[in-house]
Amino acid sequence: MRITFCAACGRIALHGFVYCPYCGAHLQPGPGLEAASSVPFGKLESMQAEFRAQQIDEMLERLDGIEADVEEILHRTASHG
Ligand SMILES: [Zn+2]
Repeated sequence: MRITFCAACGRIALHGFVYCPYCGAHLQPGPGLEAASSVPFGKLESMQAEFRAQQIDEMLERLDGIEADVEEILHRTASHG
């Protein structure tokens, strides 16, 4: 799988993307993986941390949805009783 490296926000997007899905910057069709692998380790590490934070955000969002569902179910059960 080829990837493109966003020069604006430093994140990685799939190669077919014309715009960065994270910051909306126009992606330069370029060296891709080679550029990504030449990024200093510290930067890669912070990118990974960012990615993890993003995953946690997504999880929390999903949890919110589940919470709403549970509340609705409890509501329904309560109104039945
Ligand atoms: Zn970007």
